[in-house]
Amino acid sequence: MNFSFITGLQKRGKTQLLVLPIWEGPKEAADLGVLKDAIRPALKDFKGTLGEVATCYVENERILLLGLGKQEKATVEALRKAYAGLVAAARLKQVDTMHLLFPQCKQKESFLRGMAEGVLLANYSFTYKGASEKTPPLLKSIYWIDAPKTQILQRMEVIAAGVHFARDLVNMNADDKVPIKLADIARKLHPKVQVVVFDKKRIEAEKMGLLLAVNRASVHEPAFIQATYRGDAQSQEHIVLVGKGVTYDTGGLSLKPTDGMVSMKCDMAGAATVLSAVRTAAELGLKVNVTAVVPATENCIGSNSYKLGDVYRSYSGKTVEITNTDAEGRLILADALSFAARTLKPTCLIDLATLTGACVVALGDEIAGLFSPDDALAQELSDAAEEVDEPICKMPFHVDYKEAMKSEIADLVNSFASRDAGAIKAALFLHEFVGDIPWAHLDIAGPAYPSKPKHYYPVKGTGFGLRLLISFLEGRSA
Ligand SMILES: [Zn+2]
Repeated sequence: MNFSFITGLQKRGKTQLLVLPIWEGPKEAADLGVLKDAIRPALKDFKGTLGEVATCYVENERILLLGLGKQEKATVEALRKAYAGLVAAARLKQVDTMHLLFPQCKQKESFLRGMAEGVLLANYSFTYKGASEKTPPLLKSIYWIDAPKTQILQRMEVIAAGVHFARDLVNMNADDKVPIKLADIARKLHPKVQVVVFDKKRIEAEKMGLLLAVNRASVHEPAFIQATYRGDAQSQEHIVLVGKGVTYDTGGLSLKPTDGMVSMKCDMAGAATVLSAVRTAAELGLKVNVTAVVPATENCIGSNSYKLGDVYRSYSGKTVEITNTDAEGRLILADALSFAARTLKPTCLIDLATLTGACVVALGDEIAGLFSPDDALAQELSDAAEEVDEPICKMPFHVDYKEAMKSEIADLVNSFASRDAGAIKAALFLHEFVGDIPWAHLDIAGPAYPSKPKHYYPVKGTGFGLRLLISFLEGRSA
């Protein structure tokens, strides 16, 4: 996307679409400068409610009125959604260049952020459709009229590119991101990011028994990916982000029904987000040291599947009795978390995972669950999420529920007899492999891949969590 600035409505040439933002309430025709007389008839029926649009023509130029709602109630998030809707409408009309008049307001920087982010996040497409069916083109150029000139837009473009990168990884065919291919993608993340990949032989040497168990029925070998960006050589701080990288999840012998499997190329959304976070941190030049750790494997079904009732030894040494092969995410995360805790000297450990359907039942597909025994870290993440309007909800970390993971023959079971509190118990299982390091777990099973596109999420994979991680890293960077 190409952003440019123009001062004054009268100084611009004509374009495919001129957008005039209108606050709800008494219409200040003066806001529209040289156009006020030409627009006045169109304004008669236009209330200016949030997201309302109307089209009119002035001297053969297409003009779109965009309602912004009541000015005193305006929020950055509301503007994000309104401008995302505008992009969808413009793309349907095959528009690739727009002039956007900046609305009269006091909160210029934050409102510009909301508008630009709505535009950038909605300006995304991903399709395998043939050439016969045209997908709406992407916008190429935006001219901001009378907007504040700030560095914000460049930063937003980098972050939006990070969101798009994560979305691409989630949306692409599972066959195109099997562990070895995902590792190849990671190797090319960014010139400032160092990448180490353990292949199957090395994973065996490291005795990551749970990752190996989950991988057994797949024809594709596992990969253990570590991508590091060192933005602050003076600092001992090291933030480690662990992302669940199940590149396809059939459920294994505890096979998923068809409906539950259709979306399962998204089961590496945690991996996509943490890899993109490290790439984006490098591109922004943040003063942080951060590593993405991704245990990558498919969870397939076959004659060599890992088995229910059998016991497997984890990297940490703890043994796990398998009571459900579809609870595989926590297994590969267990090995990744204990490896990170033991060898990477993290000062803080955060994992992102499409982990449980229970979390979706509890919070729906717009809110992620946050689980942590560390109140300070949980608060820091909640603040970072609020800053960018990616909703997360702190869930109870109720350690008494650890009772449920007792096994008669192993240290733990991986899935529990009753279904209640499934998301909490999964988090408690992970905690068994973390030790004393400040740690938080984000269950993104809902918002990573909602059932329908919405607002500034125009295609299923959303890249949820990228903006909040960058907000968190920026906080640490300061
Ligand atoms: Zn599963």
